Amino acid sequence: MTHIVIVGAGECGARAAFALREKGFDGEITLIGAEPHLPYERPPLSKEGLAGAVPPKYVAAAERYEDAGISVLTDAPVEKLDREQRAVRLADGRLIGYDRLLLATGARPRAFPGAPENSARIRMLRTQADALAIRTLLAPGRKLALIGGGFIGLELAATARKLGADVILVEGLPRVLSRGVPEEIAAVVAERHRREGVEIVCGAKIAALEEEGGRARVFFADGGSVSADLVIVGIGAVPNTELAEAAGLAIENGIAVDERLCTSDRDIFAAGDCCSFPLSQYGGRRVRLEAWRNAQEQGTLVASSLIGGAESVSSVPWFWSDQYDLTLQIAGLADGAARIVRRDMEEGAFILFHLDGEGRLIAASGIGPGNAVARDVRLAEMLIAAGSRPDPAALASRETKLKKLLAA
Ligand SMILES: Cc1cc2nc3c(=O)[nH]c(=O)nc-3n(C[C@H](O)[C@H](O)[C@H](O)COP(=O)(O)OP(=O)(O)OC[C@H]3O[C@@H](n4cnc5c(N)ncnc54)[C@H](O)[C@@H]3O)c2cc1C
Repeated sequence: MTHIVIVGAGECGARAAFALREKGFDGEITLIGAEPHLPYERPPLSKEGLAGAVPPKYVAAAERYEDAGISVLTDAPVEKLDREQRAVRLADGRLIGYDRLLLATGARPRAFPGAPENSARIRMLRTQADALAIRTLLAPGRKLALIGGGFIGLELAATARKLGADVILVEGLPRVLSRGVPEEIAAVVAERHRREGVEIVCGAKIAALEEEGGRARVFFADGGSVSADLVIVGIGAVPNTELAEAAGLAIENGIAVDERLCTSDRDIFAAGDCCSFPLSQYGGRRVRLEAWRNAQEQGTLVASSLIGGAESVSSVPWFWSDQYDLTLQIAGLADGAARIVRRDMEEGAFILFHLDGEGRLIAASGIGPGNAVARDVRLAEMLIAAGSRPDPAALASRETKLKKLLAA
């Protein structure tokens, strides 16, 4: 095998390229990205990166790609995957042949139905370009309306308050963070935002988003409306599967891959936000994760698979979010829990342990200032990976060290 082509120069694609070299692959590697930048980290875009308007935080400097012999093509969207010719075609007509291909095309924000496209005042956030455009409209006294009470909306709310903007956040469901976050934790988050001056409106149905006379307006189904300098829609993400789909690869809530991250074509792999995969820890249930660590880990794993390795995805999903001085961390998949056990910690921090019907620990969700919950969530993750059934009373008591449970 001489040439591995990676479509998608994001977190996952970049990690995969370096991991190929670390694992000894000495053929040609071409990393192709649609954006004008080298791969960069997205998490800062809604957090400190936005507040400081800093340049992108690159996954690696240009010299590291050169030193590793990785050719990076930026500003080079791939338009077609031709499986018969074993080549990808770029928008400028160039055809690049591959022996093995990795699709690491990520995801894009879900658009609000009927919202004007390319509006300066109604935007979404995924890229450095989006962040820069948003940053220019956030200043003291400016009004920001956020549509969607998920992580992106809430992180943006915290950052916008830091920048002095007035913020209203509108959520259609009865509470914020209703996807995968327990109510007790969501309540802490919502309360903190309210204390910081964010107006949170839940259970509100939005009829339309419109731009008018240099402002944006949110129209509610019940007849009211809100005018804002900027509306940001954060209602979830859609996996970028178009290339794979047009080439006839299996799709199932993302590009469907097996436990080695191989698609329905044995020479094509997919990893990161764009793919769905079977998770052995949860009975082989197929999931698609939109999480930074998953993109990194799958980048490393898929590098092995691309050069013939037989390792399977086995890691426990993990996600974090920073809002004000609060950090929230979730390990595992909490849905399907039969019982929740709470452990209170210092400074108001706490962790919820989620157990299934057989007493097996399946998830842990924690919230607290700074790193308050990090260590214990990490240990809980190891307990989940080990398939352990810890004593609920021991989980609840902060006197019991989780390390001890792990050793047991
Ligand atoms: C604002 C923001 C904040 C986040 N915060 C957190 C957080 O706090 N914690 C956390 O765990 N996760 C967070 N995430 C999620 C995390 O950043 C993603 O899970 C991660 O970036 C996924 O990496 P990826 O490489 O799979 O996809 P991406 O990073 O999306 O990269 C995919 C790349 O592929 C390119 N591409 C797509 N199609 C083509 C094509 N046809 N041709 C060429 N290139 C193409 C795209 O332009 C993109 O550059 C955040 C995401 C965002 C947007």
